[in-house]
Amino acid sequence: MQELKFEDIPVMDFGNEYTIAGILFKGHNNEPLIVTLPQENIQLQPRLVPVTLDEWNELMQQLDYNNVEGIRGEQKVILRKSQRNVDSKISWTVFKRDNYACRYCGIDHVPLTVDHIITWETGGTTSVENLLTSCKQCNRTRGNLSYDKWLQTDYYKEKSKFLSADVIINNKRILEKLDSMLTTVNVRRR
Ligand SMILES: [Zn+2]
Repeated sequence: MQELKFEDIPVMDFGNEYTIAGILFKGHNNEPLIVTLPQENIQLQPRLVPVTLDEWNELMQQLDYNNVEGIRGEQKVILRKSQRNVDSKISWTVFKRDNYACRYCGIDHVPLTVDHIITWETGGTTSVENLLTSCKQCNRTRGNLSYDKWLQTDYYKEKSKFLSADVIINNKRILEKLDSMLTTVNVRRR
């Protein structure tokens, strides 16, 4: 069996170019057994990639996460594999953190949504750090306005009168963090 070095495989392509097609087992006598997923039609030419525990973790992260942190050149970035829609686990974490109330108007008795602080269109990630609880009306009203412009709108100034002082301060503090927040890059295909 051909052996590959971990650093020679395009880890960032796992989950995109490379997907799980089966599971490899080892028997009592070390005989390999590969079970393929239904409908997988694989011409098997297995190549072995021996990995350290850290490398194994890296692989697992790449396969599991919606947004994968990585280093590209000098820059720390998140490679976006995920869809724009937010999975419910992330939403509920955000709602809970925000006490189940809109961060822009304070309303808490209507269906809530999550709003990207750095908008999806400009590379914002679908992560708890980049999401705020928002009622549908505020979310719709903000649209694609950048976060700093949004806080300057008459709409926000009016609505935020209903917020507690803490929330107003926290919303403002986000402005200081904007530059250091992770954004995505497009994954270029080779
Ligand atoms: Zn609202």
